[in-house]
Formats: sequence, C-alpha cells, structure tokens
Amino acid sequence: MKAYPIPNEKTSLYEYTKEELRSWLLAHDDKAAHAEAIYEGLYRLRVRSTDEIPGIPLRLKEKLAPFLLPRPAIATRRVSKDGTIKYLFRFLDGQAVEGVLLHYEHGHILCVSTQKGCRMGCDFCASSRLPYAGNLSADEIVGQLLAVEEKENVSIRNLVYMGIGEPLDNADEVKRSLQIFTDQHGPGIGARHISVSTCGVVPGILRMAEENWPCRLAVSLHHVDDQKRSQSMPVNRKWNLSALMQACKTYTEKTGTIILFEYALIPGVNDRPADATRLIALVKDIPCRINLIGLNPLQQGGPGTDEEAATRFRAQLQQAGLFASKRKALGQDIDGACGQLRGQFIQEETK
Ligand code: SF4
Repeated sequence: MKAYPIPNEKTSLYEYTKEELRSWLLAHDDKAAHAEAIYEGLYRLRVRSTDEIPGIPLRLKEKLAPFLLPRPAIATRRVSKDGTIKYLFRFLDGQAVEGVLLHYEHGHILCVSTQKGCRMGCDFCASSRLPYAGNLSADEIVGQLLAVEEKENVSIRNLVYMGIGEPLDNADEVKRSLQIFTDQHGPGIGARHISVSTCGVVPGILRMAEENWPCRLAVSLHHVDDQKRSQSMPVNRKWNLSALMQACKTYTEKTGTIILFEYALIPGVNDRPADATRLIALVKDIPCRINLIGLNPLQQGGPGTDEEAATRFRAQLQQAGLFASKRKALGQDIDGACGQLRGQFIQEETK
C-alpha cells in the first residue's frame, strides 16, 4: 500500500481520492468536510492553483500550498479525417503515453492509458513491442481527461480504459482513478459510462467483481481456441479460456452487469462459421454483448477483414440470440492503433 505524502512534500493533489483527502484533512487537524470543496475546486472549477479553491479557510489554503496540480502536456495532437483525435501525453518524468478522443452520436469518448508500456505481449499490439517504463499513478490517468477537456473545450462523459497498458496489471491505481472519475463532487462520470478493458487477467476480473468497481468490464477475446489465443495473447498461457469464462461468469453474477467481449475479425483465422459456433458455446452462460471489430489491411498486415464473412459471422451470433454489433477501427489515418504514436516518440527521443 502506498504512503500518502506529508504536507511539506511537493506532490499532486490529484493523487487523492476524496476519502483519502478526508483522512489527510483529519490527520492535519482540519475538517474532513472540506474535501468536498477541494474536489469541486479541482474538478468542477478546474483551478490551476490551490489558492484559487473557493469555500475553504485561508489556513487550509496555506496547508495545501505545497501541493502541485500537474497535468500531462499534450506533446502531439493528430486529427483524423473521421474526427478522431489522437494525443501523445508527456508527464513530468519525461515518459509519454497515448490517448484517443472519439466522437459518436451520443458524445465524446476518451480512451485513456494506464501504463507506460505493457507487459502482456499481445502479438497484434504496437505497445507490446516498446519498452515498459512502469505504471501510471491515478493522477496521471485522471490528468489525461483534464488535459483533453481543457485543450478541446469539451466535457467528456464517457471513458474507456483501452489505451496503452493492461489496466488490471495496475489495478490499485486504476481503481483509485475510477473512484476519482466517478466522485459526485469530482468529474462525476457515471459508472455505466466507463469501461475497463482487459486482455484476460483473471485475478483482476475477480477483484473487480469482489470490490464492485464503479465501471463496466470489457474483455479482449479475439480467439475461441486456446492454441490460437495463447499464440497471439500470452496471457492465455496463464489463464486459459476456461478460467477466463469462469471469471467472467462470476463477475456477471456478482455485479449484475453484462460484459462486452471484443472480437477482431481476422480472415480465415477466427471468422469462419465454426469459430462463431465455438464463440456461441463459450459465452452461453454469460450475459454479454459481442463487439466485432473490422480490421483494415494495414493493421492486419494482410487482406483486412472479409466483409462477407463478417456479415455471416454476425448473423450467426444474432440467430443464436446474442447481441452482436460491428464497428470499424477509427483513426486509421493517424496511427490510431494503440502504441504507434508512442513508438514514434521513443524513436525520436533516442535518435
Ligand atoms: S493489446 Fe492491451 S494488453 Fe495487449 S499488449 Fe497491447 S496494451 Fe497490452
């Protein structure tokens, strides 16, 4: 467990969940109730210095003075033809991660990163080929939203944890960031509007269920047999499909929510009728939605998703009573896939 800073230490005030802030205030002879005003100042009014927080006494402002309110700098911003915006965020330690702002009919969705690199090694992902430089702290995760909202002058009400990193490999900080994002005095984003996506870290899924994290769960499935999945996603060698499905079932039973399974259609590999049949059998006991993802030739390194096979695949799932939608990967023209922009950044830095 992390130790929280003493008052004279320079540290980020965004690091604190409201409960932690209440404890800090009590430990420093102040009223816990001031945590609400501090949160509103930070996340509603977006003050840039603790001095500007309204509704708290001067003596408390003095105690808070050593704290910093750092936000990541936006080092790169690329706008796609489809409106998707991709960012490279740079932190005080010089490390960089990516974020993506997507526009759908119902508003903006921000995709945030959780680690400076990723240890999961999925063979289709640019992030797995870059050096891993550690976890993001909760304030670095939250800072991505603050930086984008300020830059674009928008209010973001939907979040997905699908950027660089495996969220459940950084579970403590991800959980704390969720507590901050959903706090009613903070950003106040609804738990139903936040999805945490995992490649299949079973203990993390069980922890989410046990602790009832304020979010939805998405699982990157992509393959329906252990051999292919283990080859493409090493996480499957540790927790195979049977263990993953059991954890997903437990999750839905404990939380009463459904799971979103992500399934990228790769021609001739996982898009055949037999694959759809296996997928139907695999998820039959799990309340879920299947999100079929079309790949372009660039991502696939081959012919891209076969549209006819995709239509057939989806129809087969729907006939079996599953809710299946299909979406295209957005931002193709701006290195939209996770890790590509960070890869260019690292290359530039090491030239
Ligand atoms: S797909 Fe996700 S979990 Fe897999 S290597 Fe990339 S960032 Fe990590």
